[in-house]
Amino acid sequence: MTRLAKLMVGNWKMHGSLVANVSLLSDLLSGMGEVNCRAAVCVPAPYLAQVQSLLAGSALEVGAQDVSAHESGAYTGEVSAAMLSDFAVRYAIVGHSERRQCHGETDTVVANKAQRALAAGITPIVCVGESLAEHEAGQTEAVVKRQLAAVIHTNGHCISEIVVAYEPVWAIGTGLTATPEQAQDVHAVLRAQLQAATAHADRVSILYGGSMNAANAAVLLAQPDVDGGLIGGASLKVPDFLSILKAASR
Ligand code: PEP
Repeated sequence: MTRLAKLMVGNWKMHGSLVANVSLLSDLLSGMGEVNCRAAVCVPAPYLAQVQSLLAGSALEVGAQDVSAHESGAYTGEVSAAMLSDFAVRYAIVGHSERRQCHGETDTVVANKAQRALAAGITPIVCVGESLAEHEAGQTEAVVKRQLAAVIHTNGHCISEIVVAYEPVWAIGTGLTATPEQAQDVHAVLRAQLQAATAHADRVSILYGGSMNAANAAVLLAQPDVDGGLIGGASLKVPDFLSILKAASR
């Protein structure tokens, strides 16, 4: 079993500006000397061209925060996988809980988005995670398995090409974090589900997301099935994100 280096992905959400992006990325790049994990930032679509150019030749890769479930056509406001490819996008988040909640994305839509990304050579970062109510009702395992099952069903032939992010909804942006044991338990469930679908499940990086920060990253990343992190708020603070990247580089 050979796992890849940890994968650490910043999710800027709807933050940034042309001016702010320049200083954030130049500070980040100048502090990345000791970083040897895989790393990317998922930026708002209007900044893809700028970020592609600022990161050219660096170890930090470019990601998008969403991709359309459609190939092309009359879908006002949507951004296709082919368009993302024009900007050297390496990763696209699909099924983030904020999109499932605020934009009504179903498991099927998320599976189709993953399929579009894969067809364009973009690695989908498929987010799964339970709400607080589901967590308290003991439904965590059932929810994440259902969400991943839809993606496996649609993308079974190339499922080893995806990245999965376990993001308990109650931990996103709240300062609450799953304990390392809770994260490991869910990651092990997801790994087993992938193993049942592909002989290459160990190639799938399973990230943890939900208030990961400089103080808790190392212990979360030490869990055997935690292959990296999806980081929101802390990815916008250069010293914090650098600490997290360094914790992933040990
Ligand atoms: C996220 O947006 O995917 C996320 C995990 O956010 P935060 O780190 O702020 O909880």
